[in-house]
Amino acid sequence: MTFLMQPIKKLADFTQQLQDGMTGFERFLEIMDIEPDIVDKTDAIELKEVKGKIEFHDVSFSYQNGDGTVLANLNMEIEPGKTVALVGPSGAGKTTLCHLIPRFYDINSGEILLDDIDIRDIKLKSLRKNIGLVQQDVFLFTGTIKENILYGKPDSTDEEVIEAAKKARIHDFIMNLPHGYDTYVGEKGAMLSGGQKQRISIARVFLKNPPLLILDEATSALDNETEIMIQKSLEELSKDRTTLVIAHRLSTIKNADEILVLTSEGIVERGNHEKLLNEGNLYAKLYKSQFKNMA
Ligand code: ATP
Repeated sequence: MTFLMQPIKKLADFTQQLQDGMTGFERFLEIMDIEPDIVDKTDAIELKEVKGKIEFHDVSFSYQNGDGTVLANLNMEIEPGKTVALVGPSGAGKTTLCHLIPRFYDINSGEILLDDIDIRDIKLKSLRKNIGLVQQDVFLFTGTIKENILYGKPDSTDEEVIEAAKKARIHDFIMNLPHGYDTYVGEKGAMLSGGQKQRISIARVFLKNPPLLILDEATSALDNETEIMIQKSLEELSKDRTTLVIAHRLSTIKNADEILVLTSEGIVERGNHEKLLNEGNLYAKLYKSQFKNMA
């Protein structure tokens, strides 16, 4: 029996590891490191001062287990500190594009540059240390609120944790909990709402303070007050950082320095809000239909 239980336990441990992996960016990345092809080159470099310019040159990508090319010969550039918003129909490859920057997957052809350096020439840890990721589905791990925020930068002081929580507009909520920052969030943050969990994950990124931000805006309905708070903290988070955002909210789209409309045909429109609206093509249609839904 024991010899049968052993592999089952191993599998259970691994499943737990995977589940834990989804709870935080770093842990998630560690799990992704299992990908055998994604390893450091022997002469991979450590990044020093990162300005945050991102360039995609003729990037093509397909999933190994997928059924065809997701991105074909894609070109784009984000200047340091600017915000680029990705919009487009479901399945067009927006999330995939975002996941290529921290090298969750390597591309089939072309190159992705960070500050003129091919990301494959950079140590994976160094690359990822410079990227903050705010995802739609936030999974916290079992532990206190403080521990969950500290995940962004484990050697931070209490003052820094509080500062990050204030910027993420979650401090007042935390202070009203019976044990404040030492309150246990329950398994995977079960005792918190989606909006509260998201603000904790935003606090993590404030603490990490990376020059690059990848933001997958939540589509799920949040109550108005939460939505406004999250929106404000995300605006602050993206200030002076290179930001690539999968945009669902009108305000993000309007304020972005550039909007890329991604479809199965690739990037079909690019420009700022006014330009794309005036052109009257897909973006204008998407925008108008969203606006109608909001009215
Ligand atoms: P949405 O707006 O619905 O999130 P998206 O534009 O972000 O969509 P992606 O999630 O990047 O699109 O998916 C692009 C394509 O790649 C889809 O056809 C999807 O089914 C496929 N895909 C996504 N992830 C994987 C994966 N891990 N393995 C295989 N195929 C995948």
